[in-house]
Amino acid sequence: MEIEKKCFLCGKNGYSDPLDSHHIFNSAYRKKSEKYGLKVWLCHNECHIFGRESVHRDQRIDNILKQHGQLKVMQEQGWTTEQFIKQFGKNYL
Ligand SMILES: [Zn+2]
Ligand SMILES: [Zn+2]
Repeated sequence: MEIEKKCFLCGKNGYSDPLDSHHIFNSAYRKKSEKYGLKVWLCHNECHIFGRESVHRDQRIDNILKQHGQLKVMQEQGWTTEQFIKQFGKNYL
């Protein structure tokens, strides 16, 4: 996911708006996000923090990222939905 460094949402390369590393599952699950590599690059202003459709302001976008994260970790770890819920608290799919 992070081989090519570009914004997960809009695909920009960070030239005009620097890219931030965003933990898909935060607060209580931040450490697990770190452990399982559940992070994406996002344009700092537009897609991460301040934009109208940025992940920290728009629940819908946040959910899209969480769905992506859930699918990724379930695939990589071979988890069932139940196993995912045990680790991250709920099912986002
Ligand atoms: Zn963030
Ligand atoms: Zn972006």
